[in-house]
Amino acid sequence: MDIHSSIGLKRLNLQKVYHYLYNARSSSKLDISNGTGLSIPTIASNIVELEKRGLIREGHEFKSTGGRRAQSYSICETARIAIGVEILKEEVKIVAIDLYGNIIDDSRKEIPFVNNASYFGEFGRFVNEFIERIAFPKGSILGIGVALQGLVSEDGQTVVYSEILKADGLKLKTFRKLFDFECRMFHDTEIAALAEIWNCPETQNAVYIALNRYFGGALILNGEVRRTQKLSSATIEHMRISLDGPLCYCGKRGCAESFCGANHLTAISGMPAEEFFEKLHAGDTNCVSIWQTFTRNLAVVINNIHMVVNCDVILGGYLNLFMSDDDVRFIEETVRDEHFNNGFSCVIRRSRLGDKAPAMGAALDFIDEFICDL
Ligand SMILES: [Zn+2]
Repeated sequence: MDIHSSIGLKRLNLQKVYHYLYNARSSSKLDISNGTGLSIPTIASNIVELEKRGLIREGHEFKSTGGRRAQSYSICETARIAIGVEILKEEVKIVAIDLYGNIIDDSRKEIPFVNNASYFGEFGRFVNEFIERIAFPKGSILGIGVALQGLVSEDGQTVVYSEILKADGLKLKTFRKLFDFECRMFHDTEIAALAEIWNCPETQNAVYIALNRYFGGALILNGEVRRTQKLSSATIEHMRISLDGPLCYCGKRGCAESFCGANHLTAISGMPAEEFFEKLHAGDTNCVSIWQTFTRNLAVVINNIHMVVNCDVILGGYLNLFMSDDDVRFIEETVRDEHFNNGFSCVIRRSRLGDKAPAMGAALDFIDEFICDL
């Protein structure tokens, strides 16, 4: 065996032990050996190495079944953390997450986006103050992921389309100059879909629908967010469902965005989303009528996607915060009614990540990489 394959094998064994412990949360050397097929001496030396790196720790002792009590080991979940930031037109949201994707801390601040030095100065101060406040060692922070309302080039370096933020041409290096950490830039909906997969790893084929102020969606195929060469992910928001509908910010008429965004609901109801859903749930006839129309348009969009790929629906975003389970069942029924096949049933799963999904996804990209490439 040459030296390179020897190093490769050592690393592979270290990964096996770490990944087993990561999934098991807590385990003994014997269990790790049974689970990985590695010998006890190999497990022991890798445990020493992982402890030395501060990545695992001794836990409780398992109850004895006769012989010596077995020592348990578990992951140090905050040995590495990652920061995720979401840039919206009106505000900035930030989260710090641990190796299991748990939120350690979060914050938000109203900073209206303007693509200029003054904005990035204030943005940088906000993020750096947050990082100072959570007080983690610099070496434990894997990086800062930035999710924004815009499409990002395939190489992650440039915003290629961002009518909402008016940030076309914005470069990743603009963020890199602000921080002492590695930065990455993502399309918000796409990276929110990644967070949903992380949260529910059995997800195979699904469409992620973000009912945010601006509507968005991403397609998940074979457990991965679908990426195309030119655009970073599916752009369901610009699927046209009416040729002479309202003007979309993209310049076309009748896009899904014009019918399914929270901004549209707020505009036609004349009230904030929170108030709208309160009245809807109290049976207000005007709100019920608006909701029926809104849901029907959403059902058309979901069905158009179903015509291409039969998949489940993950519903997330701002409006999801106010919706009841009955509202979601109503959307399911409307999708079924809109479908050409009477026997069709649509399954909608609600996101459990709330409106932090894009920021969490942007941070999870670093966590995922760290765990895979240990
Ligand atoms: Zn459009």
